[in-house]
Amino acid sequence: NLQDKLERSFKVLKGHGQITEVNVAETMKEVRRSLLDADVNFKIAKDFTNRVKDKALGRDVLNTVSPGQLLVKITHEELTELMGSEHEELDLSGDPAVILMAGLQGSGKTTHSGKLAHFLKNKKGKKPLLVACDVYRPAAIDQLHVVGEQVGTEVYSNKEEKDPVKIAKDAVEYAKQNGFNAVIVDTAGRLAIDEDMMNEISSLKDALNPNETLFVVDAMTGQDAVNTAKEFNQRLDYEGVILTKLDGDTRGGAALSIRAVVQKPIKFIGTGEKMDALTPFHPSRMSDRILGMGDVVSLVERAQEQFDAEQARKLNKKIAKNQFDFNDFLQQLQQIKKMGNVKDLVGMIPGMGKALKDVDVDDDAFSGIEAIIHSMTPEEREKPQIINGSRRNRIAKGSGTSVQEVNRLLKQFGETRKMMKMMGNKQQMAGLMNKMK
Ligand code: GDP
Ligand code: MG
Repeated sequence: NLQDKLERSFKVLKGHGQITEVNVAETMKEVRRSLLDADVNFKIAKDFTNRVKDKALGRDVLNTVSPGQLLVKITHEELTELMGSEHEELDLSGDPAVILMAGLQGSGKTTHSGKLAHFLKNKKGKKPLLVACDVYRPAAIDQLHVVGEQVGTEVYSNKEEKDPVKIAKDAVEYAKQNGFNAVIVDTAGRLAIDEDMMNEISSLKDALNPNETLFVVDAMTGQDAVNTAKEFNQRLDYEGVILTKLDGDTRGGAALSIRAVVQKPIKFIGTGEKMDALTPFHPSRMSDRILGMGDVVSLVERAQEQFDAEQARKLNKKIAKNQFDFNDFLQQLQQIKKMGNVKDLVGMIPGMGKALKDVDVDDDAFSGIEAIIHSMTPEEREKPQIINGSRRNRIAKGSGTSVQEVNRLLKQFGETRKMMKMMGNKQQMAGLMNKMK
């Protein structure tokens, strides 16, 4: 599935210290494939991954962020931006506010008219009126009455009248007379785009001048959804989109494509047949879904854990062979500093508690130690036993500390090494290292 694919692609990045042309290209290939699988239009997917690639390569990789993590973040940011960044609210001004529902037959207009009434009533404190303007099938009017009953909302209909524009205008008048401050107009759709339907919905829009014309579209129709969205937009210049049938594992790729093609916000998603299955659209959440990550954060955390486990494994090997050196020591120090909570963590490192017992533990305490280690040559860091008197002098001068401080660190380091070797047990050590992070 998508999640597996992405995880695999992020594994490509693991162990690389930085983002390179090659590992980004590989990952973006996977992301592009995932987008295509999620019904995102090919050109949009391609443009998108190219943009992410450029961004990733241009960005400085801090050593606090793993490349995989950074790529997930950039991918997610870009997807979110592409879908409009923020949730866009309905315009409910006016008395009454008028919402016109447009879309093909079966897209979910009637169902979502009901859901919207429910939403306006319960979330916006409105008193909505539902209006039945699908005059071609008596059953359509009955269906809206059933829906209205479910959500406790009055339905305006007139089976004698065959002109939807007349019905809608009468309904708005009725709303004004009877204290309804929102009117939701359900209309007729056809199975495919045709002139009659387009003319009818256009004339409804012209006559009502609604706050919102909402294009209702079935997410399961994939690429067709995008084409339909485009054609309706050309005729209606609608305000927003309701993307329906996003329950189950329908992917949200249509959201991305529609937004990119028509430049109109998706305002709601429909996630089931029940009247409360309507969710305000949030680009960031949809990014999660399109990437198939479910929960991006947990994916990143898992990747990071694996990365840490790998480091711990390497460290264990070195400890077992008594090869733990100042490079490792420095790395551990830096890890701890990243965590921020120095005081709590310092006691967990063997030897460190003692090494720092005379110092008030804060980042400054570390910076002295770090300075000393940085003043050592690579050979000295790997083989501290070669650090004789004259080397100690040089290191003290170079680090702006004293020979006593250098001596103290070397002594504590020696004890740390001994203790680590004594502990020996690799599992114990792995546990300890995990605790340190
Ligand atoms: P209309 O022709 O545009 O009015 O579409 P309807 O509202 O009659 O919906 C057509 C079918 O899709 C009905 O069987 C609905 O129950 C179903 N439907 C509508 N919205 C959703 C949704 O969000 N999820 C699911 N699973 N079914 C939906
Ligand atoms: Mg209908």
